[in-house]
Amino acid sequence: MRSFSTLIALRSRGGLRQGILSSPQRHASTFQQTIAATSPRTTWTRDEISDIYNQPLMELASAAGNVHRRFHRPSAIQLCTLMNIKTGGCTEDCSYCAQSSRYSTGLQATKLSTVNSVLEAAKIAKENGSNRFCMGAAWRDMKGRKSGMQNIVEMVKGVRAMGMEACVTLGMLDKEQAKQLKEAGLTAYNHNLDTSREHYSNIITTRSYDERLQTIENVREAGIHVCSGGILGLGEVPETDHVGLIHTLATLPEHPESFPVNKLVPIKGTPMFGQEPVKLEDLVRCIATARLVMPATIIRLAAGRVTMPESEQMLCFMAGANAIFTGEKMLTTDCNGWDEDKAMFGRWGLEPLQTEASKLLGDSGSVHHDQVISEDPRVRIGEERLQAQG
Ligand code: SF4
Repeated sequence: MRSFSTLIALRSRGGLRQGILSSPQRHASTFQQTIAATSPRTTWTRDEISDIYNQPLMELASAAGNVHRRFHRPSAIQLCTLMNIKTGGCTEDCSYCAQSSRYSTGLQATKLSTVNSVLEAAKIAKENGSNRFCMGAAWRDMKGRKSGMQNIVEMVKGVRAMGMEACVTLGMLDKEQAKQLKEAGLTAYNHNLDTSREHYSNIITTRSYDERLQTIENVREAGIHVCSGGILGLGEVPETDHVGLIHTLATLPEHPESFPVNKLVPIKGTPMFGQEPVKLEDLVRCIATARLVMPATIIRLAAGRVTMPESEQMLCFMAGANAIFTGEKMLTTDCNGWDEDKAMFGRWGLEPLQTEASKLLGDSGSVHHDQVISEDPRVRIGEERLQAQG
């Protein structure tokens, strides 16, 4: 019969994998250095991230919570609202997506929404406390969409004029299109990698991982913040594919400003329908590992939050998540509503995270200095908070 300590070692992935992946000395030293970090680094090896991911979960979540407090105000959670501005009819074959024209999901395709209707929705989002308004269009790319781009430029300008951050997700983007959006005042561009490079071809075949990385590079070069993350529950192996996804993003020339973590929302008619849901422990491991290796990044608990009890959401916040999507809908899927989230904030003493982009243009009267994430918070916030703690 196994002893209690043997069982613990077997249940802890660190215990299972430590001897395979690395020496105990390196394992301990990587983790200790990560916990002590005061600035982000982009030189991670995949083994280092794997060592972190496979720590005993309580150690991992606790360390992530500590690092989170050094770089961010732990009670501050950003409220974002995501609107679908062009639904369905997409030529891509992302095997989880209701909007792909390749699958029969019953979704009605629409044209691009009018500028006025989008700005009206942004106004409602702002009145309800959101300070980031994200707009998604179900397109492969922006080729030949001149009038569409003009309208989106107007939407971006309108959202920014309200004092909100503006984010769009429009598929692949070239350098010139990225420049146009930057000139319109776009805060961030969302382009998820979805999963690891190794698992990617099981999910999407119509565009490559490298094409996704090229769009991210175009966005970064234009001076727009990058929002890029993944979807968990796509039939991946968490220990390798979550680590692979985080490793790719954490070793870009700069970390993404935003890392959305989506839980697959299974859509009937798509190939991913019927997948085993991601386990809570794997979701928390992913968030905590991302927090440790990309300490200044905003981690967004995104699609699928509506399926999580409040206690699970809080566990994610304690492990380093600090943004949510709230409102009537999140693209085509259900979303926790503003009233529900306001009540949750009240129960747990949470407050909306203010950002530099929204503070500059909006009402800054109640913003605390240390709630503000600057245009480049990466070194300053960690060092300031460490001094404060010391
Ligand atoms: S995820 Fe985006 S690119 Fe992929 S099918 Fe859906 S709308 Fe198209």
